[in-house]
Amino acid sequence: MSSEGLASDSTEAILGDYDVIIIGAGPAGLSAGIYARRAGLEAVILEKGVPGGQVLTSPNIENYPGIPDIAGMKLMEQMAEHARRYIDIKEGEEVVRIRSSEKFEVFTNAGKYTAKAIILTTGSTHRKLDVPGEELFNGRGVSYCATCDGYFFKGKDVIVVGGGNTALTDALHLHSIGAKVSIVHRRDSFRADKHLQETVKGHGIPVKWNAVLDEVKGEDNVTSVTLRNLKTGVTSAQNVSGVFVAVGEQPSSQLASELGLEMDSDGFVSVDRSFRTNVPFVYAAGDVAGGIRQIVAAVHGGAAAALSCFEDLMKPYYSRLP
Ligand code: NAP
Repeated sequence: MSSEGLASDSTEAILGDYDVIIIGAGPAGLSAGIYARRAGLEAVILEKGVPGGQVLTSPNIENYPGIPDIAGMKLMEQMAEHARRYIDIKEGEEVVRIRSSEKFEVFTNAGKYTAKAIILTTGSTHRKLDVPGEELFNGRGVSYCATCDGYFFKGKDVIVVGGGNTALTDALHLHSIGAKVSIVHRRDSFRADKHLQETVKGHGIPVKWNAVLDEVKGEDNVTSVTLRNLKTGVTSAQNVSGVFVAVGEQPSSQLASELGLEMDSDGFVSVDRSFRTNVPFVYAAGDVAGGIRQIVAAVHGGAAAALSCFEDLMKPYYSRLP
């Protein structure tokens, strides 16, 4: 049965009624949960997988103030543990639809919840290259997560595609576990932090500048890639066992779109400085709302969204005061 089919009946029993439902347990959602509950709101976090979001896949985090160096997975375990002191995180509950009536009706693969407000912290997913072979060899040499899959490529030739913080962090991780890694980047300079660039250079990781990946080839698993130099137009084959794609993120904004939230041209939810969307009592924070996609920013957004939500829900109370 499709998850849609599991969640279509508006008369079904309500699994929980809350002031606010937070959708997604990445840094933004966990922070929103802590702030919502500490403000006294009845709240729950619905998470389709496990808490942590994209940060789980980051080998190393070195720019979260107060924690100089930590694996992404460890940081998120700590954040989730902290959040659980205040709020219930329902793992494995995917929200498939939200209906706006007197209250918000939130349908998941488990049933129906209701709430006065929604905080969307649904994050983003890995952008794909959309080249021949990428989909075919996904999981058979093509990967979007160096932390998860890097170990299998110890001693093997791999490439990382991209020039941002993720690409360079992934390349360093692969290098450190003994893969023979090179970076393929479409420009002649990286956009990643200077510190990362210098570390990559210091480790002697080769870079193919002005190059794009045209095709991934293989039999059972990846055996080679075709690269094209954008300056000369010359194509070349490179024998590799692994292709790590790190070319950015796209927002997970399907629920936002169903709720009628305004989005920018890249699909990120538009929010004001208090993380309110254009729909009353709906807030968005973290990667789904764009901006600088940093853990500190997500944590700030989640907290601010929860406090805005508190303010809006309490307004009837305050407005009754003399
Ligand atoms: P990003 O900063 O958007 O970088 C994506 C990279 O992929 C860019 O170099 C881009 O090239 C390249 N690219 C995009 N589409 C491509 C295509 N079709 N073919 C080839 N190359 C393509 O993405 P990210 O590195 O995943 O980072 C996302 C956000 O998370 C950023 O804000 C980043 O700072 C943050 N982040 C932070 C950390 C950290 O601070 N520890 C770690 C990871 C990520 P161009 O440069 O030519 O556009």
